[in-house]
Amino acid sequence: MDLPPRKPEEDEAAWPVPLLKARTVRTSTIQTICEEGLLQRGLVRRLHTLFPQHSGLAPTTPPLFRDKSNYTGIKGFRQVCATLAEHGIDIGFLAERELFIDVYRFLATRHTLNSIDWTNFATDSIFQLTFPQPGMIEGDVVEAYAAAESRSERRRIAAEHMATTNPHDGNQLINKPWFVNDSGQLEVLAGSQHKYPPVQLLFDQSTQHCYSFCTYCFRHAQVRGDDDMFLQKDVDQLHAYLRIHTEVNDVLITGGDAGFMPASRFEQYVTPLIEDPSLIHVKTVRLGTRALTFQPESILDAKYEPMLALFDRLYAEGIQVAFMAHFSTPREVLNPLTLAAIRRLQAHHVVLRSQSPMMRHISMFDNADGTIDIDRSAKNWIDLGNILGMLCIGFHSIYCARPTGEHHYFSAPLADVHKVYDQIYRSLPSINRPSRHVSMTTSAGKISIMGTTIVDGEKLFALKFSEGRNMGWLDQVFLAKYDEHTNNVALLTPHDTEKFFFADELAEIEAQMADALAKAQGVAPSASAAPT
Ligand code: SF4
Repeated sequence: MDLPPRKPEEDEAAWPVPLLKARTVRTSTIQTICEEGLLQRGLVRRLHTLFPQHSGLAPTTPPLFRDKSNYTGIKGFRQVCATLAEHGIDIGFLAERELFIDVYRFLATRHTLNSIDWTNFATDSIFQLTFPQPGMIEGDVVEAYAAAESRSERRRIAAEHMATTNPHDGNQLINKPWFVNDSGQLEVLAGSQHKYPPVQLLFDQSTQHCYSFCTYCFRHAQVRGDDDMFLQKDVDQLHAYLRIHTEVNDVLITGGDAGFMPASRFEQYVTPLIEDPSLIHVKTVRLGTRALTFQPESILDAKYEPMLALFDRLYAEGIQVAFMAHFSTPREVLNPLTLAAIRRLQAHHVVLRSQSPMMRHISMFDNADGTIDIDRSAKNWIDLGNILGMLCIGFHSIYCARPTGEHHYFSAPLADVHKVYDQIYRSLPSINRPSRHVSMTTSAGKISIMGTTIVDGEKLFALKFSEGRNMGWLDQVFLAKYDEHTNNVALLTPHDTEKFFFADELAEIEAQMADALAKAQGVAPSASAAPT
């Protein structure tokens, strides 16, 4: 369907009303969008005309999900299946999908569900992003689960598989920071990570939720509420730590989803950053959130206004506020609510960046023979990069699947990841390219694949840290043997040395951190998060 042409007598501010009503958007949200002029006709028309294959801006069919705002757990999943059945859609593999939900979680918003192209759901990126798929969990576990005769037996099988899912890849548990408080006691920040000197991660108690669950989630300890999840209850403790650690200039609120933090809690965190001279070194506050993909209406709600006022206040104080979105497909962006939410944030000086996961089946696609379709995969990203550019959003980074959860399903050979990235890089204008090469997180840091090179006739990967436990490591390009198949940068072999240049120092840093944390927690080092 094309967008309706402008009628001479039409009120410009009200033009999106039919578009929004067709998506069952709340009246109050429609009012906000019209009053604040958040959907510009020229922008919407241009995006829809340039990218019709991705556009959800002018849907041809009414949305299937109209009533409930959220569908949660196995019960919610079954309700979704029942609604789909009413429209003649059977997604199949129900036991296998429910096993995944028992091991991880399921949650989908109405917006997420209505963003899926249900006429072609099996290959739809958002369906793959939020719905468990056959092949995610190994066949023997699926068979045992399907054959189980009781719910308790199914739960037992799921719990056994849960124990194998490596929720804290990259030795994250040793990243918990600690400090000596005014009383001379050691205090650990249970809901924080300080791995790279300039950046502090905060997992606040209010952000342990998500709007919808991603099937590849690399924070599933948070999402399913594991005993060893990161959880920050004490706001003042963060400020006490930051006063000592003046190297931190960027606080990244994450979770879960930082979009869940209420304005009152956000205010408690940011007011001292504004008012206390001993915290003046903190120059950026980032919110890691998928609200723009899964629940853009939350940003368009009147309840969001106190948050917007705080963004204005931080801007006036010279503190950068950045929304770290995780867009990986154009379809997540090209709908009226996401566009309007982006424009509302930008009107309040929020910088938008996308740290984008390159995941097989979602944003990296297979040929019929199971190899990676390099051209189709690259096209997804080139279109996304150009769309984000039109919206004044930059890529912060593109990264590949971490070895956590069902890594085998979402990962691809690094050699293919690099080929896709190469096409993206040379096709996008420089202003729309990611700020660094495609990377993978390891315990040592984020390792970027710079490219390939030939030394003495041998093909090699050229690698470089884009973040490191020792930021001095970022100065050095290093070489690894080229491998057509491996999907994990930590498994690469050094070119002509026994170990990579950082290996010994990394072991030392990890041991020191694990020991120091164990002391701070009052446990023997062996009982702490020793490096593996
Ligand atoms: S939004 Fe983040 S924490 Fe939540 S399910 Fe997705 S990847 Fe996991």
